[in-house]
Amino acid sequence: MPRFFASNNGSKTIADSQRRPILSSESSHNEVPVRHVLIAILGTGFSGLGMAIRLKQHGQEDFVVIEKADDIGGTWRDNTYPGCACDIPSHLYSFSFALNPRWSRTYSRQSEIRNYLRYCAKRFGILPHIQWNCELLNASWNEDEQRWHITTTQGQFTAAILILGNGPLSEPSLPSISGIENFAGVLFHSSRWKHDYDLTGKRVAVIGTGASAIQFVPHIQPHVKHLILFQRTPPWILPRHDQPIPSWQRAMFHILPITQRVMRTKIYWQQEIAALGLVYRPNILEKIMQLARRHMARQVPDPLLRAKLTPHYIMGCKRILLSDDFYPTLSQPNVEVITDRIREVRAHSIVIEDGTEHEVDTIICGTGFHVTDTHLPQFVHGRGGRSLADNWQASPSAYFGTTVAGFPNLFLLIGPNTGLGHNSMIFMIESQISYILDCLHTMDRRHLQTIEVRSEIQEAFNTEMQQRMRGTVWTSGCSSWYLDANGRNTTLWPGFTFEFWHRTRHFDPQHYDVISQPVPAYGGEKVLCRPPQL
Ligand SMILES: Cc1cc2nc3c(=O)[nH]c(=O)nc-3n(C[C@H](O)[C@H](O)[C@H](O)COP(=O)(O)OP(=O)(O)OC[C@H]3O[C@@H](n4cnc5c(N)ncnc54)[C@H](O)[C@@H]3O)c2cc1C
Repeated sequence: MPRFFASNNGSKTIADSQRRPILSSESSHNEVPVRHVLIAILGTGFSGLGMAIRLKQHGQEDFVVIEKADDIGGTWRDNTYPGCACDIPSHLYSFSFALNPRWSRTYSRQSEIRNYLRYCAKRFGILPHIQWNCELLNASWNEDEQRWHITTTQGQFTAAILILGNGPLSEPSLPSISGIENFAGVLFHSSRWKHDYDLTGKRVAVIGTGASAIQFVPHIQPHVKHLILFQRTPPWILPRHDQPIPSWQRAMFHILPITQRVMRTKIYWQQEIAALGLVYRPNILEKIMQLARRHMARQVPDPLLRAKLTPHYIMGCKRILLSDDFYPTLSQPNVEVITDRIREVRAHSIVIEDGTEHEVDTIICGTGFHVTDTHLPQFVHGRGGRSLADNWQASPSAYFGTTVAGFPNLFLLIGPNTGLGHNSMIFMIESQISYILDCLHTMDRRHLQTIEVRSEIQEAFNTEMQQRMRGTVWTSGCSSWYLDANGRNTTLWPGFTFEFWHRTRHFDPQHYDVISQPVPAYGGEKVLCRPPQL
């Protein structure tokens, strides 16, 4: 019987068939080797790594972490553009179980966050579990064996449990503009920065004014000959107030960790207050919009430029951005902001709607990511061979963003409706991880082989999510990457994050159909996990 955690006497409780070293082979000579693990985790970003660490802390060693790259970090490995940093203060944007007293700034830079993740992987002994350069190509639930069959670029795995931490913002989205494929200069996405390409003296076009563009534009502007910023919709921008953390404070956090906890808690509640405006009372955002307008007025003296940069939608409908140097950069003599639609890209130029042609050497796409239309769901097949993509029909849904009916023993990290516009994603990830751990403990305790969220429970939850979206700032009329192809906000959590934490504190087996041990194929009986059976 698979056990997910060691029993009280400390002995290993993994089933005989699963007690082999993780990388051992179950195959005979002629077959493709298949490695069986109890738990397969996808990704080494905050999600996958956090899950692996917490499993290990609970005494579970029988897991593999599948990672297509050759380094830790996900978001913080891939986004290396100049100026890349978090926009939630680092004291909060980090694991609760691995506080880092050494953060150098309020909003740490990418390299510091990546190093933090590398440090965590090493400190908690996760490195030996990781399969590097191993891309998940397909995962299919095998009904007879009650386990996942996983195909990767490094071979086959089977696993009782599959946990996907493939990231909500890890597939770059390139703009579909007529002729873009014929561009003869250098074109790249901000999350795939070409560090071997020198921008000095180049005529550079930046497409997009989202969270990444406002960070890298101020860093490249002093070096380039001419920078044209193509803006579709102006973002709301608030002051950032980023500053170095003084060494005395870092020493204090080191010696007295409680002081960092206090700081973290204070930041959490400061961030959390924003949900009041975003979700419950968008009219109170008027005060913050005034703050943003004053910020712009102080930093952009030219009224024509100010008019171009002034948003005409309610703050928060698209992600609110923080910057102290973006607006001043746009007033520099070598910068031009164009708000006309791009009609066409030619070999050496960009043509806008009114027919004006702008010659450029380089195009940098700050155009964000595939969020609700990522590719992985096409390759994850549940009961009956149905893919997640088919199941979702372009509107992803999951129970607490974590479990999906028809996909037994599958867990998503940062799944549908778990994203945030106002607080740290790590808080959500850790809440989901606790929920999964509680589920695994429950499976152990009740000798369950398989759990699957009941479809009516998932549907009720999804209906609740969509009902709660009404009246929020996100449905106030702007277009944003929060909305899926059907116009639904399947990205964000429509409430306070402490509500999400509270509701995911315990795994409730009543919401799930389960199969007890041993599986039916071996003579067991299906138990519907509803009272009073349990
Ligand atoms: C520039 C930027 C700044 C951000 N700043 C903040 C912030 O300040 N605060 C905040 O809360 N959030 C922020 N975010 C959101 C951020 O994505 C999350 O906070 C968090 O890092 C997501 O972690 P993750 O592990 O879920 O995903 P990721 O970090 O994206 O990791 C996913 C991992 O899965 C791997 N993977 C994916 N598909 C496969 C496959 N098929 N096979 C094998 N491996 C695969 C990837 O290689 C990657 O390592 C930011 C995002 C970006 C892009």
